[in-house]
Amino acid sequence: MFLPLCLDPAELAGVDVAIVGAPMDEMVTHRPGTRFGPRAIRAAYDDAGLDSWHMDLGVAPLRDLTVVDHGDAEVVPGDAHRNHRAIRKAVADVVASETVPIVLGGDHSISYPNVAAIAESYDTGSIALVHFDTHADTGADNWGLKWAHGTPFRNLVDDGVVRGDCLVQIGLRGYWPFPDEWAWMRDHGVTWHRMDEVFERGIDDVIDDVLDEIGDAPHVFMSVDIDVLDPAFAPGTGTPEPGGMTTRELLRAVRKVASARGFVGMDVVEVSPPYDHAGITAQAAHRVVLEALAGLAVNRRGGKTRPERPGPPSAL
Ligand code: MN
Ligand code: MN
Repeated sequence: MFLPLCLDPAELAGVDVAIVGAPMDEMVTHRPGTRFGPRAIRAAYDDAGLDSWHMDLGVAPLRDLTVVDHGDAEVVPGDAHRNHRAIRKAVADVVASETVPIVLGGDHSISYPNVAAIAESYDTGSIALVHFDTHADTGADNWGLKWAHGTPFRNLVDDGVVRGDCLVQIGLRGYWPFPDEWAWMRDHGVTWHRMDEVFERGIDDVIDDVLDEIGDAPHVFMSVDIDVLDPAFAPGTGTPEPGGMTTRELLRAVRKVASARGFVGMDVVEVSPPYDHAGITAQAAHRVVLEALAGLAVNRRGGKTRPERPGPPSAL
């Protein structure tokens, strides 16, 4: 995004948003490769750069907000738990400056250290977690491993970092979770919107419900697993599942949540460049971040959109 590099946490004062890379993939259950995700997302095609102008919202996200690249968390290949600690520290450094971190994964296990660092700053239990994914990631374990990319949301709720009734999931499909995990989700008040529901009702109506469901939670965190997209739009991911969202639907959903509520943290995970084609998965992830920033810019000026006309007014 042509962002200035700002590696020193002391220089984050006054910065609105900091991008942080979390290039680790030791906790996948199937195909690795997401350690290359942050690099690919940063390198995705982007000619407009800092002048990017959102024609539907009427904002220049990278001008209206001060956004920097804070580099990568200091991960070491092969030591997943040390990597989690490094990611947690990097996010804590960002949050300490009242800067919003956007973390680029990495496998989805990184949501645990990311959300935990934010919750420490904003009070445990005050965060509503809006989670886009094919998979609920609420397993008690993956193949016997408690810490894995299919378990972060179970661990966050079980550890009291996020309340189960503040976790809302969108896009679930395929053949997992199993009944045990669904039972745990029901018992803990988790809300979900299956992909089938998105298809039947449309993404705008579903996101309207999501905004009701997170209600007046003081803070919102968005976690976007790129495999929520159909593999036609995001083949570059470790656990693809046919029958998913279009990129168009996901971009609208993210900007709608961001513009309505803003957010205190976010991650975009599971981009696996070795399985990508023509960089389309990294491209989608890059635009998810840009839509989130544009939505945040709108939110910070009171929610007013100024779409370019002529044309129909934006529903947002
Ligand atoms: Mn996931
Ligand atoms: Mn997933």
